[in-house]
Formats: sequence, structure tokens, C-alpha cells
Amino acid sequence: MLFDLPTPGFSFELLATLGHARAGILHTPRGDIPTPVFMPVGTAGTVKAMTADELRAEPLDARIILGNTYHLYLRPGLEVIGAAGGLHRFAAWDRPILTDSGGFQVFSLAAINEIDDEGVTFRSHIDGSKHRLTPEVSMEIQRVLGSDIAMVFDQCPPGDADAAIHEVALARTTAWARRCRAFARADGQALFGIVQGGVDTQRRLRHMAEITALDFDGHALGGLAVGETVDETYRVLDEVAHLLPRERPRYLMGVGTPADLEKGIGAGIDMFDCVMPTRNARNGYLFTQGARVNIPNNANRLDMGPVDPECPCATCRTHSRAYLRHLYQAKEILYARLATLHNLTFYARHVRRIRERILAEGTRC
Ligand SMILES: [Zn+2]
Repeated sequence: MLFDLPTPGFSFELLATLGHARAGILHTPRGDIPTPVFMPVGTAGTVKAMTADELRAEPLDARIILGNTYHLYLRPGLEVIGAAGGLHRFAAWDRPILTDSGGFQVFSLAAINEIDDEGVTFRSHIDGSKHRLTPEVSMEIQRVLGSDIAMVFDQCPPGDADAAIHEVALARTTAWARRCRAFARADGQALFGIVQGGVDTQRRLRHMAEITALDFDGHALGGLAVGETVDETYRVLDEVAHLLPRERPRYLMGVGTPADLEKGIGAGIDMFDCVMPTRNARNGYLFTQGARVNIPNNANRLDMGPVDPECPCATCRTHSRAYLRHLYQAKEILYARLATLHNLTFYARHVRRIRERILAEGTRC
């Protein structure tokens, strides 16, 4: 079943469903994205330690990566990326890119000076310089970056914020979503809305009604896994995700572990991103079909077997746990490259396996 999305050139194809889980394809002008999909995070115009060729190559075969508006705006800045002709050319990445709006980073990294109904004034976490981000400024930055999917500028309150703070943030996020929707985008740039509301299901559903009325190309759940318990995250997912419009892609922002992805897919989510596979790799944690491997562990000192015998990545086909442990201990930069390639391959295959199960056991659409 093929659904045209509001932005020309984009469509969403549902192939099969299994319970609330869906397998599909997000068609974009820069290529097809089989869903469910995990999107590697390329914060500063690079998925840390990986070249574009490595990301594209089988068996990783990343179809879409993330860029961070906040980071790229502060460094290298729009003058540089604009001169390159956009983020795709600057980073030599020809497949789709999704950019976040900068909202989450402003609220989590920067020193906030002032939040008002117009936008946010903050100081850079790099050099303390003062900046102002509004819905229009965020959209203009994302236009210059030239991402294939832009995100609306939203206010994400902390998980433990009280009801009054949530209500103000929700009203603001809806108003900001309208302003982002009204902003003229470049050809070939889709826009996703973001549903906030913390762990209160009624509040979430109310905000969902406001956001989905604005005819976005896709919908994201924001403000989950920001301090609440895993049980609360899962409860909200179960109660809310499958109620997002069926004919548009659904994106769970910034979550999470392999188990979180499986849970999210089961609840009806199509798209995920998280720094976990890349950041954990650099910190010595490698994902496998069995137990997670803590590579600095002494048990790996003489282990000449691969990190994961099931894994077809170049790291596992070529190198032993002992070698990786040695590189980690010696702080060799090759360690970060090998470990990142493995963890990203694990995540890609994990999601692909679930997709194949939905296609095999599910109902065709
Ligand atoms: Zn591997």
C-alpha cells in the first residue's frame, strides 16, 4: 500500500504488519529507506570514525544518517556548509540525511539564557558565544544544510518536569510546529512534526491530535528516555505509538538499546536514532547476539576469537577480541574505527532481522 506524503517526491509504502509492527519503505528523492530503520548519528557532519564509503558498504549499508543542527550551526557554521553547497556535498554523503531542529541540544547542552514564546537565547557550549534559535532560524539552518528530512523546532522539558512546565512546553511546541510548517523549504525537503507530553498518556494524545492536524510528512515521539524509567517509556510507547497516523512514517527520537528498538518496532515505530552504538563502541562496549562484550575486560586478553562469530562485519571477519582489547588499552585510533563498524553493523542487522520477521510472518498490506 503506497501513500503519497505531502512533500513531492516522498512516499511511504506499507508492505506488511504484524500486530502493531510494520515493515515498509520510505521513498525519498535520494533513495529508498527500508523500514523499520536505525539511523546512525552523524552529530558534526560525520558518523564518528566512519567514512561515507564504510557507511554505505554491505553489510552495514546505512540508508540514512542524522546531522545535528545545533552542532553544525555552531561549528563549522552555515557560511562553510553553504559554500560547499549543503551538508551532502560537504560530507560526501549522497544518501538521505535527517536533521534534528537543534531544540534537544539547546535544552540539554547549552547554557540557556531565556526561553520565551518566540524562541530560545543560549550560550554555545563551545565558546560561550550568545545565539538565538527560533522556529524560523532552525528551519533556515536546516534549509542551508539541505537535509532530506527536517524536524520541527520543539521544547523538550526534562522527564521529571511538573505538569505546569509540560503544559507551557506543549502549547509552545504546537505554536512552533505551525511556524515551522509555514516556513518555505527547499525542494525535496520533507518535514516531520514532534509529539511531546512526557509520560502522561492523555497529554500525549492531546498533543498528538494538535500535531497530526498540521499535515506533516511524518511524526516523531520526542521527550522519551529523558529520565523516566524504562517501564514508563515502554508504557507510553504501547499506549501512543500505534495511534500515530498509519499512512505516515513514525520516528522515535534518541532511543535506544537493541531491546528498546525491538519494543519500539512492536509498538508501531518505523525509525530510530541513538548515539548508543557509536558512543558505546568508543567506550569499549560491543553488542553481540549473546552477552554484551566489555572489550577492556581481562577475559579478552588471550581471546583470539572474533567479537561476535555471527557477525559478517570486517572487524569480526578480520580481528580478534585480544587485538581489539590491545588497541583499546593502547588508545590506538584504529580501535574506534573497528569497534564503531561492528556496533553499527550489529544495529543494522538487528533491525533488518526484525523487518524480515514482519515480512515473513505478518499480514501483507
Ligand atoms: Zn562485527
